[in-house]
Amino acid sequence: AHLARIESVDEKVNAFLYVDREGALAQARAVDAKRERGEKLGLLAGVPLALKDIFTTEGVPTTVGSKILEGWIPPYDATLTKRLKAADVVILGKTNMDEFAMGSSTENSAFGPTGNPWDLTKIPGGSGGGSSAALASFQAPLAIGTDTGGSIRQPAAVTGTVGVKPTYGAVSRFGMVAFSSSLDQGGPCARTVLDAALLHEVIAGHDPLDSTSIDAPVPPVVEAARNGSVAGMRVGVVKQFRGEGYQAGVMQRFDESVELLKELGAEIVELDCPSFDKALAAYYLIAPSECSSNLARFDGLRYGLREGDDGSRSAEDVTALTRAAGFGPEVKRRIMIGTYALSSGYYDAYYGSAQKVRTLITKDFEKSFEQVDVIVSPTTPTTAFAIGERVDDPMAMYLADLCTIPTNLAGNAAMSLPCGLAPEDGLPVGLQIIAPAMKDDRLYKVGAAVE
Ligand code: GLN
Repeated sequence: AHLARIESVDEKVNAFLYVDREGALAQARAVDAKRERGEKLGLLAGVPLALKDIFTTEGVPTTVGSKILEGWIPPYDATLTKRLKAADVVILGKTNMDEFAMGSSTENSAFGPTGNPWDLTKIPGGSGGGSSAALASFQAPLAIGTDTGGSIRQPAAVTGTVGVKPTYGAVSRFGMVAFSSSLDQGGPCARTVLDAALLHEVIAGHDPLDSTSIDAPVPPVVEAARNGSVAGMRVGVVKQFRGEGYQAGVMQRFDESVELLKELGAEIVELDCPSFDKALAAYYLIAPSECSSNLARFDGLRYGLREGDDGSRSAEDVTALTRAAGFGPEVKRRIMIGTYALSSGYYDAYYGSAQKVRTLITKDFEKSFEQVDVIVSPTTPTTAFAIGERVDDPMAMYLADLCTIPTNLAGNAAMSLPCGLAPEDGLPVGLQIIAPAMKDDRLYKVGAAVE
């Protein structure tokens, strides 16, 4: 049924870069055969899923939304892919994304933009716009995203779906193409809080192949999602998450959510986090710096595209031609910013200062979580904007990440879930819930209470 749905609507939505029809049907038949033999089935047996095209899939193309990997067929599965298969999930295909997960609208994909199912002229968020659009257009009930600066939560917010960035280190990065390794985190996307929790349970857990993977039990997310409650909880509202740039209808729905939390028995605490105002600036130095290093491996020799290799050119020239042809403008901009910020003479002023801001943000969170159990905010300052509206203005694009980025810098957990439609445009608004590291279950407890 989901393959048929993809066939009928995805020509318009463009959520999928690759539909693995044969693979999906084979997986579904294998689940049926297991059931017939009376074997134990995985937690999500037979449930279809849309996988962001940043995770490697053995024998199935993985492009990261880039021309530079076009034609590359990974010889191995990411740990996350392996876990999905072990849970008997049916992987429908790979979803569209901003190239190398750099963007907030999916317009930076080398394979064309994805439309927001609520209004196809609007962006579905980014970088994981393909996954959120697949959910919102009922092409898949579950999806996977990655969140370096908001790429799970912001697409969830603007498409009226649920997305969770787990605690940094909770979901293995092995086989997830690296953008900014100290920030990158895979996570679950779904249409309900409980569905997200079930998927969270499948993908999280220690992996010896990822040196930053947390070696501790996964927080009880499913139990929390089944027992939503905020009674007696202290909920923080951060002073810095409102003001200029926030759409009136977004703030209206957010304020109503805070009222609802109060009615349900939560105590609301006002918080001051002065360093959050500098989070965007710090992120847009740290992420490009790490990307300039991570993307050095795309040299035209190891994977995918190779330009100008006609026997007359040096390896250096082939590398330069391949990178010039294979990377899009935003990726080039980030590599240049990052290389500059890391260069000797500028390192302390840029990268060094950004790392100090990162520490201050972590401290603001630590201080806040002494007073509250969770923090709430709008997920994004505005609802979905029009395709094309911000493409020529990177600063305007980066503003979409205002509320999501502090969490990535500090490494704690956050969820976005729908909290109604903005009255002025009828588009979905996202409520963000933030919890301390390794307390991911609180997101689900609160999320299930207000869903
Ligand atoms: N919009 C942010 C960026 O462009 C977030 C990306 C992400 O989370 N992958 O870097």
